[in-house]
This record gives sequence, C-alpha cells and structure tokens, in this order.
Amino acid sequence: MIQMKEVYKKYPNGIMAANGFDVCIKQGEFVYVVGPSGAGKSTFIKMMYREEKPTTGEILANGVDITRLKDKRVPYLRRNIGVVFQDFKLLNRLTVYENIAFALEVIEEQPTKIKKRVMEVLNLVGLKHKARMMPDELSGGEQQRISIARAIVNKPKVVIADEPTGNLDPETSWEIMTLFEEINAIGTTIVMATHNREIVNTIRQRVIAIENGVIVRDEQRGEYGYES
Ligand code: ADP
Ligand code: ADP
Repeated sequence: MIQMKEVYKKYPNGIMAANGFDVCIKQGEFVYVVGPSGAGKSTFIKMMYREEKPTTGEILANGVDITRLKDKRVPYLRRNIGVVFQDFKLLNRLTVYENIAFALEVIEEQPTKIKKRVMEVLNLVGLKHKARMMPDELSGGEQQRISIARAIVNKPKVVIADEPTGNLDPETSWEIMTLFEEINAIGTTIVMATHNREIVNTIRQRVIAIENGVIVRDEQRGEYGYES
C-alpha cells in the first residue's frame, strides 16, 4: 500500500539522504525504522507524508504517486496519514480537546460528530478526564497520548511516528507502545522510526535498517541490531 521505487533525495546542501529506497509496506503492517543518527530515517518517513519530496523516484500510496501530487492535494493525503513526533507538537494555546478537534474542524466535519469522535479517541488513550486541560499541564507521556489521539482522530490508514518515545522514560515508553499495538490491531499501518533497542527486541515486528541513505536490512520480526 506504500511503495517506494528507486527513491533518491539530495538536500540543497548536497547531502544524499536517500540513495535508492525500494520498499513496499502492506496495509496493516507494523514497521520499525532503525539506524544511526543521520542515516536517513527522518527523510524516509517525511517523504511518506510529503513533508519532503524525493529528488527522483516514485512513492505510491494506494497506487497514487504522492511525489507528483499538487500541493493543494496534500491536505487530502494527510487525512489518511496520522503523524506523531518525538516532541509532540501540540498547540500550547489550545486545550487538549481543541488540539484534537482541530484536525476535524479543518475538514469541516459536523460539530456533533466532532464532539463524539474527540471524546471517543480521548477515551481510547485513557485521557477523557483531561479534555479541558492545557498541554503544558500534562506529563510528557500524557502529551504523547494526546498527540496520538490527534493522529488517529480521522481514522487514518497509516500512522507514521518519528521517535515517539524519544523524550519519555522507559515505563511511559512501554505504555505508549501498547497504544500503538492497539492502533495496529485495528488494521492501521504503523511506520515508526526509533532508537529504542529494548522495545524493538521485545515487541517483535518488521525492521527496516537504514545506513547512509540505504536500506541495509529488512526483516520480518527483526532485531534492533545496534549496540545503543
Ligand atoms: P536520521 O533521521 O536517521 O537521523 P535524517 O533523515 O534526519 O536522518 O538525515 C539524513 C541526512 O540528511 C543527514 O546527513 C542530515 O544532516 C541531512 N538532512 C536532513 N534534513 C536535512 C535538510 N532539511 N537539509 C539538509 N540536510 C538535511
Ligand atoms: P533527527 O535525528 O531526530 O531527525 P535532526 O537533528 O537530524 O533530528 O533534524 C532536526 C531537523 O533539522 C529536521 O527537521 C531535519 O530535516 C533538519 N536538519 C537536519 N540536518 C540538517 C542539515 N544538515 N541542514 C538543514 N536541516 C537539517
């Protein structure tokens, strides 16, 4: 369902962050993206939601080449993709509820449906009672739960996460992983860049390892494979 064909990415400074990615991720898969810092993991992930465009190559999402998508079509693509970041990227002037509702307001969902769906996802992430709070009143783990709620509120087919546990303590990281497993269990594809060796080696899933812009390893039920 997401396929990269001979994808190359050269940044304006001359750095080649993708040196021929060829990969296919099927609907419902759970994929870890691992590799050293600067390997190209974020670039790999950003190209999937059109935050970056490849210099050459094709990226097919459900058969549509998203590299050729007109900019004005990108919001439609993003409706089918939820994105979760290491630093949460919540809007600090909005309440928890408003942060999540925002994603539905921009697509002009009916107000009654918005309320129902926001409370539904807040319930799913276990934070219904915090709907009226501001993001900075929450712990890091709670903020990440809210950002996951925001990512799934549109019922996307794919959730992309760039080091979602990078700012969290080990216990909170495991809780967040449980949430991703639940989201995957309902059929959502998960693509997650991570440096968390213990998680990758415990919750076994497909592992794509990237080094110097090249996929050097792609294994079903793979291992982290690096020392730290
Ligand atoms: P990772 O996520 O594995 O740390 P990145 O995809 O962020 O790797 O980076 C891959 C390479 O591309 C690195 O050398 C990085 O410095 C470079 N890079 C990333 N983003 C940019 C950018 N916007 N402009 C120029 N170089 C970049
Ligand atoms: P990470 O390792 O988590 O990807 P980075 O420090 O590599 O974080 O990148 C942080 C941000 O800076 C990213 O959005 C990336 O695109 C950008 N970036 C990274 N390297 C460069 C670079 N050499 N030149 C310009 N922007 C860069």
